[in-house]
Amino acid sequence: HNHIDHATPEKVKAAIEAGDTHAHIPQYQGLAAYQAEGGYAELAKLRDGGDWKQVQDTVLSAGLRGLGGAGFPSGTKWGFVRANEGPRYLAVNGDEGEPGTFKDRYYLERTPHLMLEGMLIAAWAVEAEICFIYMRDEYPAVLKILANEIKALEEAGIVDPGYIELRRGAGAYICGEESAMIESIEGKRGEPRHRPPFVAQVGIFNRPTLVHNVETLLWVARILREGPEILTSVEKNGRKGLRSYSVSGRVKNPGVHLLPAGSTITDIIEAAGGMLDGQAFKAYQPGGPSSGLLPASMADIPLDFDMLQPHGTFIGSAAVVVLSDQDSARDAALNMLRFFEDESCGQCTPCRVGCEKAVKLMQAEKWDQNLLEELSQTMVDASICGLGQAAPNPIRLTMKHFPDEV
Ligand code: SF4
Repeated sequence: HNHIDHATPEKVKAAIEAGDTHAHIPQYQGLAAYQAEGGYAELAKLRDGGDWKQVQDTVLSAGLRGLGGAGFPSGTKWGFVRANEGPRYLAVNGDEGEPGTFKDRYYLERTPHLMLEGMLIAAWAVEAEICFIYMRDEYPAVLKILANEIKALEEAGIVDPGYIELRRGAGAYICGEESAMIESIEGKRGEPRHRPPFVAQVGIFNRPTLVHNVETLLWVARILREGPEILTSVEKNGRKGLRSYSVSGRVKNPGVHLLPAGSTITDIIEAAGGMLDGQAFKAYQPGGPSSGLLPASMADIPLDFDMLQPHGTFIGSAAVVVLSDQDSARDAALNMLRFFEDESCGQCTPCRVGCEKAVKLMQAEKWDQNLLEELSQTMVDASICGLGQAAPNPIRLTMKHFPDEV
């Protein structure tokens, strides 16, 4: 699974010339091929008298953490959900809306059954009555693939008809926030909930709900089949495991790069074929716009969970965007805030008004840095969810690391 091919400009051009305009379902591994390599054997074993505690220990010993961005230990989450009385539900968060993130799509368009088996294993572990897959509508090929393969699973008798429900998102970034996603699954407007209670206690239709990101689940399937060593045996810069970096920007080979979790931006640029000719590395977004921008001088930080917090940011879903000397950090930060202004659900004032105000202030020739800092602190302190709380990161990091531009 470590082989990653890339849609290089040449390949895309050749595909278009051949009349292949992406309006089709890509070649992917179907049920029969997946089973031929041992797929669903682990699930069958577990259903036949397996011990969920043992599976939880295996997942914990692999060090698997939530790859949607929060990084919460997956096995621990299972324990929280199980601690609450059933019926329980499972929801797969496939609303991959973080700009620059495309790893879930990448995997689902190639090996959808890895995620589906991981999902069924997690559902078995928490005794979920129904699995909801919330998939963004901007991924039509993925929706089609999942619809086909869920049907194949039903026909093969691996799941009962109706056990997996496929839900389509409708283009709102905020529905990737787990409690907003749950509201949306319930048929309501996607607005984040206050916590506590956490969704592990009060989730879909007030039932305990296990929410996992797509990529997290495919690792569950792989860990059970191949052993926790597939993650624990990889070590770099004192960090263990693998990370799927979605890499874009001024590099020669943008795409999903599966690298050791302790990789730095220098390693990632190298894996992505280096900088575009004639462009010098200037800055990078380590994990989506919520993570803001870091300068090229900070290129030796392992881009893994917990490593970026001391620098006022985080790895999130590992959406790395590389900027060159042809880019403006200030313009990039403004673009990020425009995105948040657009995508704020509007439920709370610090975020709804704060994002709009920040965009206005950032359009001034010279930023009013004191006012922007005051606004940032208010948003961090008083916003309901992560969108409003993290939106100030691009403002603060740009003021700190690119003072000449603001
Ligand atoms: Fe909605 Fe923003 Fe408040 Fe989150 S912080 S609940 S996105 S208004």
